[in-house]
Amino acid sequence: MERVGTNRKEASVVIVGGGVAGLACAWALARAGTRGVVLLESEAHTARASSARSAAILRVAGGPWSTRVLARRTAQRLGAPPPDLATAPLLEACGVVLLDDADTPEPGWIEEARREGSRVESLDRAQLATLAPWFHPRPDARAWLLPDEGRIDVPRLVAGLLDGARAAGVEVLTAAPVDALLPDARGVRLVDGRVIEARHTLLAAGAHAAELGRACGSHLALPRALRATRRHLAVTPPDTRIDPAGPVVWDERSDFYARPVVSPADGAAGGWLVCDCDTDDLRNEDVRPDPPTDPTRLAELERASALHLPDTAGTPSVRAWAGVRTLSGDGASLIGLDPDVDGLFWVAGLGGHGMSTSTATGELAASLLRGEPVDPQLSLALSPARFRSAVVR
Ligand SMILES: Cc1cc2nc3c(=O)[nH]c(=O)nc-3n(C[C@H](O)[C@H](O)[C@H](O)COP(=O)(O)OP(=O)(O)OC[C@H]3O[C@@H](n4cnc5c(N)ncnc54)[C@H](O)[C@@H]3O)c2cc1C
Repeated sequence: MERVGTNRKEASVVIVGGGVAGLACAWALARAGTRGVVLLESEAHTARASSARSAAILRVAGGPWSTRVLARRTAQRLGAPPPDLATAPLLEACGVVLLDDADTPEPGWIEEARREGSRVESLDRAQLATLAPWFHPRPDARAWLLPDEGRIDVPRLVAGLLDGARAAGVEVLTAAPVDALLPDARGVRLVDGRVIEARHTLLAAGAHAAELGRACGSHLALPRALRATRRHLAVTPPDTRIDPAGPVVWDERSDFYARPVVSPADGAAGGWLVCDCDTDDLRNEDVRPDPPTDPTRLAELERASALHLPDTAGTPSVRAWAGVRTLSGDGASLIGLDPDVDGLFWVAGLGGHGMSTSTATGELAASLLRGEPVDPQLSLALSPARFRSAVVR
């Protein structure tokens, strides 16, 4: 970052937000050769908001096409990371078992996964019982194993992105909240009055991206483009019979998933991490890194766990938390330039797939910003312009 005056500096790209999205963009830009990148994070440490509260599952199957493309690319990266990211795999391919109803021979999204190159194995009841003996499937459910999907080592992923970005020259400032973007998003003003001018401002502020973009004059229909929602997770008490290397089990029809907890850093080793896929809009005052939990939702989660994992019935969870998922109107991320504000580049709305798509999100954003060739269909599908307000159009 070039110093222009005491309170005024220059950068090539200023990134607002040090969650997995901002870190992946910083890492990808710097390793591609962009100099003068500055990343600003309002908290004392990076990756402490949504990125610290996920279930750390990498799923490719299901979801919008663009998300599947990014998740597939990320699975490859995390399975065999480059040395500037990690020295050992960041993805443990413990497998994801997906359940759906039996009335069709194969749901469309399973056919799609096969067609797009995922390995998919159909499981009969006996095979399911062997793979996931503690999971109680609905009587009419069918099961498929996607053996190459699984669990991301999130602490190592975010540490690798941060270290890799710094080593390649990114300046990372923590406890540095951004107050507002400069006109045309040609940089930012921090809460402490400092100004950083830049050719582009990359907005990766998670649930706060919408308010910063709107204040800078973006005409995107932001309530539809970016919606802050809350989801709860809980960890059941340790049980030595749970295989820590066992698969994630995800019932698509009842919207419930469980995966073994493998380390204390992962919650509390030896139990199940459980979720019943609640998605409630958050009030503005609750949009913060650690949103309050809702006792009603936690009680529902315990009931769902008792149904699917009968061994946990009657045992209260040892840990529970909520996190913010910022969802876009069509379920896909916003990655690209704002159609109206010249310097504004969005990397937001990563919803429930920010970990699964992490490195590919950063690499796509870096290529777009650097003017390098990208798959035009992919950049169109993710372009923020799809949410341009009808009034402006
Ligand atoms: C319960 C739950 C389970 C999930 N499970 C999965 C999963 O299994 N697999 C998966 O792929 N994804 C999962 N996700 C989604 C994933 O966690 C998110 O998509 C991802 O973390 C979003 O990253 P982000 O960087 O966009 O946002 P964040 O991690 O929220 O980062 C945004 C950052 O911007 C900073 N910021 C905000 N405003 C400012 C400002 N004014 N100035 C400076 N900094 C600012 C914030 O402090 C924050 O650090 C889950 C999410 C939740 C909540």
